[in-house]
Amino acid sequence: MAVLEIGINKPLNKVNMLNQSITAVKGIGGETAEALAEMNLLTVKDLLEHFPYRYEDYRLKDLAEIKHDERVTVEGKVHSEPSLVYYGRKRSRLTLRVLVDRYLIQAVVFNQPYLKNKVNLNETVTITGKWDQHRQTITVNQLYTGESAQNKDFEPVYAVKGKITVKGIRRFIKLAFSQFGNEIAETLPDHYMTAYRLMNRRDALQIMHFPSGPNDMKQARRRFVYEEFFYFQLKMQALRKIERENSHGIGQHYELARLMKFIDSLPFSLTDAQKRVVNEILADMKSPYRMNRLLQGDVGSGKTAVASIALFAAKTAGYQGALMVPTEILAEQHAQSLTSLLEPFNIRCELLTSSVKGKRRKQLLAALQSGEIDILIGTHALIQEEVEFKKLGLVITDEQHRFGVGQRRILREKGESPDVLFMTATPIPRTLAITVFGEMDVSIIDEMPAGRKAIETYWTKPDTLDRVLGFMEKELSAGQQVYVICPLIEESDKLDVQNAIDVHAVMSHHFHGRYEAGLMHGRLNSEEKEKVMTDFSQNKVQLLVSTTVVEVGVNVPNATMMVIYDAERFGLAQLHQLRGRVGRGDKQSYCILLADPKSEVGKERMKIMTETNDGFVLSEKDLELRGPGDFFGRKQSGLPEFKVADMVHDYRALETARNDAALLIQSEEFWTKEEYLPLRVYLQEQGVLEGEKLD
Ligand code: ADP
Ligand code: MG
Repeated sequence: MAVLEIGINKPLNKVNMLNQSITAVKGIGGETAEALAEMNLLTVKDLLEHFPYRYEDYRLKDLAEIKHDERVTVEGKVHSEPSLVYYGRKRSRLTLRVLVDRYLIQAVVFNQPYLKNKVNLNETVTITGKWDQHRQTITVNQLYTGESAQNKDFEPVYAVKGKITVKGIRRFIKLAFSQFGNEIAETLPDHYMTAYRLMNRRDALQIMHFPSGPNDMKQARRRFVYEEFFYFQLKMQALRKIERENSHGIGQHYELARLMKFIDSLPFSLTDAQKRVVNEILADMKSPYRMNRLLQGDVGSGKTAVASIALFAAKTAGYQGALMVPTEILAEQHAQSLTSLLEPFNIRCELLTSSVKGKRRKQLLAALQSGEIDILIGTHALIQEEVEFKKLGLVITDEQHRFGVGQRRILREKGESPDVLFMTATPIPRTLAITVFGEMDVSIIDEMPAGRKAIETYWTKPDTLDRVLGFMEKELSAGQQVYVICPLIEESDKLDVQNAIDVHAVMSHHFHGRYEAGLMHGRLNSEEKEKVMTDFSQNKVQLLVSTTVVEVGVNVPNATMMVIYDAERFGLAQLHQLRGRVGRGDKQSYCILLADPKSEVGKERMKIMTETNDGFVLSEKDLELRGPGDFFGRKQSGLPEFKVADMVHDYRALETARNDAALLIQSEEFWTKEEYLPLRVYLQEQGVLEGEKLD
């Protein structure tokens, strides 16, 4: 742990004032404080920073501009006597017709029967509520009689809990503000305030709680978005710096001349993007720090080539390398391609999976321990206890997010402190990459090898299967092969989805005597799987009906078409991965999505698939449509929560904040200047830095 010179030990008055208990606010007593504590509001600061989650917009609007289901405030004349209907004991519905500009609409008020006598024919009313465009009806939340009865344009709406009401919290915040408003100090360094013309903290807080015009609100929000991201990134960047400086990694002094020879021997020349990431990786390996790097690259962008270069470099530096992949099929494939690339250079690659057993396994493990094996490729079998390396220098894991964090750590611990490279073909949206992997270095291959043809993707309803079969026939008769992907293996009661076994039966029947159809799914044992895959890659089988087992890394360049059943059930990132199995040769490839999504979002997703082949664009879109929680699986995502900022929509601010924080953390001034003391204190409070305790 880095020891922090915190600087001068003077009391930080302004911070302390706001750090007082919430009962310091005149008008908030013990009982209220208890209820507020239930909401995690303990100090004056907590209360002042309890931001509204939305605003009620009371500005009058033209109904023509209001979308269905939107909240709206309108002013109009009561056009009919209100009619009141009771149902049940306490429930009632009051209906009235209101003339708003040139529209005659209906207003419905639930459970406020007393309003019947308050609104009169021809009287002006201001109503706020949800607009049902189809029924031309507003379900009323608030109704005032008389013109411009509402004198505010916006009203903040807060999350509340237990005894605390929204009105209550508004009042408490007002009390806190009038008593402590002048104690609100600036928390961002001047430099950024000026550079981005940010509103000062006090004014911004005031506007968040007591909103004025929409432009002010936007500026206030912008300030807090930056503040939240900046503080978050400050922490991440500090962690990263400490991790780097305290990781006693190994400097792998590879032989450049031999490495260049190897690179020249590859059957292609590297793309610029590949060259760039190779340089980034080699620099890490050579440095005495431990590499902790994420390599992102779309399917087919040539990550495996990059991996082989890094492994080669490790070998020339006198170290062993390991490549860990999620499935046996993939392990076998990688073992094959790496062996063919590296064996001519006298580098010994071996495959270790759970199907390597008995004597062969013993020999393999012994050879690994004695250092005869240079590169070991395998599945999670690599991290079993019995597996011991002589001198492990580089660990590469492919499709990293499929491994648990624990598994990755174990593998890392097998070496002294080996360099670690995580590779993923799931393009992680930049926004998430810089938050979730904030403490990692990220390399991106954002360029495809030249000459690749974009896959043409079509979306069609399942009832057009006949035409799809015709299309398949065309590809097959041209000597190409086809994947057919289904979401499940067997019929399930719960889900009405096509299953691989049924679809296989259909395909076998349809193409009977002309083309062979193979069946691949997760319940086959590894020999069966291997046989099917071999048959397919040797073109003994022309059609492969499969579940998503083929998703990762499988390489059969002669396959030019993929049909995906129930495509709406897959995430965009996964569909893109699947689609990446075709388009690996020089022929035009196709992907057919059979889907009948019901929701707008579902339709949108299918449409996007047909419009872009760019994995990063898709993943950003996926994130936008589904939200970050869904993207990584709920809860376990470990994504930070921001009060005001939104990672997806404010990602530019996130990038800016990240760059600013990274530069600042690297700078000399940050650690010495008085100006940055509060930020250093913050890092200390967050447990990132150890230092003398402040009193
Ligand atoms: P990824 O692992 O990123 O999906 P691969 O490394 O499997 O991609 O590469 C996909 C295909 O492209 C392979 O057949 C590989 O030989 C080829 N390839 C890789 N890099 C290049 C390049 N720079 N130029 C041409 N072909 C390349
Ligand atoms: Mg190193």
